[in-house]
Amino acid sequence: MQIDVDVSGRKVVVFGTLAGSRRVVRRWTAAGARVTVAVPGLLPAPTPRSDGVRVVPQPEPDDARGLLRLVGPAWSVVVVDVVPELAERVTALAGHLRLLVQHETPALAGGRVTLVGGGPGSTRLLTLEAVQALAEADAVLYDRLAPTDDLPALAPGAELVDVGKRPYHHPVSQHSIEVQLVARARAGQSVVRLKGGDAFVFGRGGEEMLACIEAGVPVRLVPGLSSALAVPAASGIPVTHRGLSHAFTVISGHVPPAAEELAALVRLGGTVVVLMGIANLEQIVAGLCAAGLDPAVPAAVVERGFSASQRSTFTTVGRLPAEVRRLDLGSPAVVVIGAVVDVAPAAGRTGELLAALDAVAPAGVRER
Ligand code: SAH
Repeated sequence: MQIDVDVSGRKVVVFGTLAGSRRVVRRWTAAGARVTVAVPGLLPAPTPRSDGVRVVPQPEPDDARGLLRLVGPAWSVVVVDVVPELAERVTALAGHLRLLVQHETPALAGGRVTLVGGGPGSTRLLTLEAVQALAEADAVLYDRLAPTDDLPALAPGAELVDVGKRPYHHPVSQHSIEVQLVARARAGQSVVRLKGGDAFVFGRGGEEMLACIEAGVPVRLVPGLSSALAVPAASGIPVTHRGLSHAFTVISGHVPPAAEELAALVRLGGTVVVLMGIANLEQIVAGLCAAGLDPAVPAAVVERGFSASQRSTFTTVGRLPAEVRRLDLGSPAVVVIGAVVDVAPAAGRTGELLAALDAVAPAGVRER
């Protein structure tokens, strides 16, 4: 059940420790509520008060007056990490006053980084583990190709930081991303580093993991669905197919592979999947054909997989560069080369396979 209520200016009283309540407090203040946090023990001095958040001492469970003074003027009460007797008293009092009472699980101790593979861009292709990590995050540092549309709802109250990289243009350097991850975790935050696809497939996730380990910051990996597999599938192309291809190689076209590497791929004879390949496609194709690949081998380019503007182009290796120019094919796109491309049913070529996923209305282009 979902109920939308405007909470701006409403008074919300949170019972819990500052650390355990931090996510709850951020969520309510982000929605415009005036938040009071009743914390156990002595108040930190000076009393922290910022962004409309007031911190007050928690009354004892048997201090009926103190509790009434606090809860009486509230619009809603949130119980986070408190002793059971207090939770019981607050719940009973709020029920008596007909206030909305919520029980929230406390935020986990921070000071860690979770590297999350977000899949190829659609929220619906996030794993349950990724969703959980986002829900617990204090900060999310995200990339351009990560699923970002629903981040405010998936990571409520988390600070959302765009460290997005565009091809050949990195507004935030890799080094400064690593420095930020470590610094935020050291400051006690649960940091999610959200990437497109899988963090360990051309995602520099390995470097970020090592930076955390070197700094002594706990780090965890949540694998994601790589575009290398998912984007061809979005157009109905299986990367392996009995009798056609029993191997697939994923290469980066960011820097064109050397002639020997391309020759080895041709000898292997499996499916070739190229990521970041559009800018250097002409060189890659020339290298493959020079190494003996038949220019009549089927090839496909799938642009902006899993977005409303997904577009698939079916052609042959020999015609790939001309088609890229003619149709102005652009990044992000996955290029697939091999007999498996012909397995794609006509339905996949027009995106109908995706009817059950996001609303995708690609302009299917079918040329040979
Ligand atoms: N870690 C990512 C890959 C990062 S490299 C993964 O596992 O998917 C970035 C490249 O991935 C892009 O240049 C493009 O080739 C591919 N890519 C990522 N998302 C894509 C999408 N939604 N549609 C088409 N290609 C995509």
